[in-house]
Amino acid sequence: MSLVSMKEMLAEARQSGKAVGAFNVTNYETAAAVLKAAEAEKEPVVIQLYMRLFDTGKAYDLAGTLQRLAFRAKVPVALHLDHGSTVKQARDALSWGYTSVMYDGSRDPYDENVKWTRFVADYAHALGATCEGEIGHVAQGDETALTDVAEAEAFARETGVDALAVSIGTAHGYYKATPKLDIARCAAIAEAIPGTPLVLHGGSGTPLADVRRAIECGIAKVNIATEFLDTYIKATLKTYQDLNGSFVPPDKLADPIIDECAAHVQRLVRFFAGR
Ligand SMILES: [Zn+2]
Repeated sequence: MSLVSMKEMLAEARQSGKAVGAFNVTNYETAAAVLKAAEAEKEPVVIQLYMRLFDTGKAYDLAGTLQRLAFRAKVPVALHLDHGSTVKQARDALSWGYTSVMYDGSRDPYDENVKWTRFVADYAHALGATCEGEIGHVAQGDETALTDVAEAEAFARETGVDALAVSIGTAHGYYKATPKLDIARCAAIAEAIPGTPLVLHGGSGTPLADVRRAIECGIAKVNIATEFLDTYIKATLKTYQDLNGSFVPPDKLADPIIDECAAHVQRLVRFFAGR
């Protein structure tokens, strides 16, 4: 009942000066933590899987579990392909029950990016799903290319995407130095495409004051992967060390790990909602 696309939740977020948290998950425990946090805050949420999990088949295996979690959720939940790099990944995601896909052609020439993003967006829309694109490039172990305002306007118009990832100074992974966000650029892009919610990738470790200003300037979805998954790893490691040789059924062992991950997500969801 609560499994939805990103369309309404992002439109509402943008109108009310909030952002929806989008958290990368890899298994039942991380997904359950995200849902628990969103329900505690009574906010919609995006559960997303990185494109690699679609290539390995893990996203297929997890799809049933994620759908059941979404169906029983008391808040709207979108299931999203993050950084789709091929049409096949997007097609697989939509046929497996995911309700939203990103097509990331941000490393490609502009015309190629438009062509394939529009193709995936049309495909998603025909199925009642949503599509996120990226223009400019948020560094992913490579160089950042800040989003050009005029290009963002043309890209949104030519592709029909429901959400647009923009590059305003963030990067994927942990930062070596504190990033400096180009808030004026974010505001100018938002003003140029008022009907298209903007997405901030590389949310992990970005100073929250900057994230707040970006949300005020049109960011309606904030992606969090590294810091959340790192919390999961650290909580898991500590729980297993604390066992000290005794036996606990793994499902019970997972409960405090889920709780710690949920607490992390809940702090962020609350902050993105302006509380
Ligand atoms: Zn990203």
